Amino acid sequence: MSRTALITGITGQDGSYLAELLRDKAYRVIGVARHAPAASAVIEPVEYRVGDVSQPGVVEALIHEVAPDEIYHLASETTVARMWDDPGAVSGATAAVALLLNAVRRAPSVRVLLAASSEIFGVPDTAPQDEDTPIAPVNPYGATKAFGLWMGRAFRHADGIAVSSAILFNHESPRRPPTFVTRKITRGVADIVAGRATELRLGDLDARRDWGFAGDYADAMWRMLQAPEPEDLVIGTGVSHSVREFCELAFSVVGLDYRDFVVQDPTLMRPGEERKLVANPARARDRLGWSATTPFTSMVQAMVTADLER
Ligand code: GDP
Repeated sequence: MSRTALITGITGQDGSYLAELLRDKAYRVIGVARHAPAASAVIEPVEYRVGDVSQPGVVEALIHEVAPDEIYHLASETTVARMWDDPGAVSGATAAVALLLNAVRRAPSVRVLLAASSEIFGVPDTAPQDEDTPIAPVNPYGATKAFGLWMGRAFRHADGIAVSSAILFNHESPRRPPTFVTRKITRGVADIVAGRATELRLGDLDARRDWGFAGDYADAMWRMLQAPEPEDLVIGTGVSHSVREFCELAFSVVGLDYRDFVVQDPTLMRPGEERKLVANPARARDRLGWSATTPFTSMVQAMVTADLER
């Protein structure tokens, strides 16, 4: 019998990759988001619902109605940078997790995946980070993700609910919005090639991230819910690159030298970015047989190509 999955935050980058993956596995997919998807982003035959899962009753009613086997809670308010200025987003993110886990209590056979983030590690003392690295967020976004992870553990412990948190390191794709540096760069390359821009202003070129391909991370989240025991796992590539390396590669796709176009703008620098965020995904490999298979160079190429076509 075909299985049913409920995805919160379906209209985001990860929601779209996960919806495609589950559709290809013959799931019935129901997705909820605060806004309907753009016509060009609709994935057939996904059933879209408009709703705010941070409001009481919304997820509960959906669970009652569609009786999902699996729930992927991807809905998250805004980005690291924007959450500083938005206390409403913080309370929305924490409320959504609490409401979801409470609702699942009354449907205990449902398996739940919470999308956590490497931001829960803050400025870690050790690298790479794994499941035993202390949780010590340094921004509101990381704090809400840490809250979700601890709430998941609490409900797993107290009620035996099958809830797992995926501690996701940065993951990118042509569907990433340009608020993130990767897409800002690939779109910048396309703008320069098209003659619409002559330079690209960025912040710290030496900031480093563990950047994987979002499609691979959707696969990791699905595998986590197929595992016999719920568990929180670190999902990343295990390799970090600098913003400079990303630029070098992205510009080289179109035969340009990034040094001729990229300007480091001090006003775009973020304080405290000397941190070394890089995953040790060994446990995910061991438990799930998962590893990030898309090479960094292929991902950058695909992102530049997609922006050139746009
Ligand atoms: P984040 O890890 O979720 O904050 O993802 P971002 O893509 O926003 O940022 C990744 C890294 O790129 C951070 O260390 C930023 O400081 C650095 N960075 C450098 N220049 C820029 C820029 O122009 N925009 C953004 N968003 N990040 C930049």
